[in-house]
Amino acid sequence: MDCKAESGNTDIICGNKYHTEKGNAKGRREEIMATLGIPQNTIAILQKYQFHFQKKFGQNFLIDTSVLERIISAAGIGPEDCVLEIGPGIGTMTQYLAENAGSVIAVEIDKALIPILEETLASYENVTVIQGDILKLDIRELAENYAAGKPLKVVANLPYYITTPIIMGLFENDVPLSGITVMVQKEVAQRMQAKPGTKDYGALSLAVQYYAEPEIAANVPPNCFMPRPTVGSAVIHLKSHETPPVEVQDEKFMFDLIRAAFNQRRKMLPNALMGSALPGLTKENIANALQKLQIPETIRGEKLSLGDFAKLSNLLGSGARASKHNI
Ligand code: SAM
Repeated sequence: MDCKAESGNTDIICGNKYHTEKGNAKGRREEIMATLGIPQNTIAILQKYQFHFQKKFGQNFLIDTSVLERIISAAGIGPEDCVLEIGPGIGTMTQYLAENAGSVIAVEIDKALIPILEETLASYENVTVIQGDILKLDIRELAENYAAGKPLKVVANLPYYITTPIIMGLFENDVPLSGITVMVQKEVAQRMQAKPGTKDYGALSLAVQYYAEPEIAANVPPNCFMPRPTVGSAVIHLKSHETPPVEVQDEKFMFDLIRAAFNQRRKMLPNALMGSALPGLTKENIANALQKLQIPETIRGEKLSLGDFAKLSNLLGSGARASKHNI
């Protein structure tokens, strides 16, 4: 996607619209919302608080209003929604979310950002900031406490060092969700929506596609962030499936099977599975299962669809369960 140059953003904030609407509540909100989206104002607030970026927290703050607008629109946020934002930073996107959603829960790990958020979000009564590590919080409990158990929309410019655990944690812990729209490393977004037989296809593609329908909403270049990341980024929207697209008797076993197939992706599937520590698998039962599914034994995992893995898992899983009982 195109990233507006800094002058483009400045035009938006300094336009007459802002000054003429300043007298009413909406105008004041727009003033706050637009203020953090441009680099000068981000720099000003960082300097005021003498904030130092923490690499270990994956801090790359958004400084482009067109990207922020694109995220809000891809997420389809409306007044009925309760949004969970992971890592609000200085509150740039939080302000946009607060403008559009019914309520926002923002979880930030870095204690140094909390006083900044108190200032930048002071005008928004519908925002709750929680200081903590998203990987350690019980998100179901958050949804219960702050959204009366309503499904949450997750919207975030994610810290890239923990993208996969965050997304898989949301899916696997049965958090009530009505969608996830997140900025991730471009390469990771491509892996999430990859199809069988492509170089990007792997365990992450299968896991994400089991739970949701992924769609890349925008590609975002490094100059839209401060500091600039060394990699390209993308906004991906994950629309949760109402029911899983395949029937699986034992989800855990299917994902173990998928991981085993891709741990040694250059090997033929039977060899990759036999080389794993999965219980109850024998050359014979793998060969029988593949034959039943009319899949050649020479196939590699990267050619199998989610449906293939589900069927294979249902056929092989009974053997694995029997073996567990024998132990
Ligand atoms: N949302 C802001 C923006 O777009 O400008 C900041 C995004 S920055 C890429 C990631 C944010 O996540 C940082 O504020 C960082 O401190 C926070 N963060 C990192 N690890 C976290 C964790 N485990 N739990 C909660 N927040 C985390």
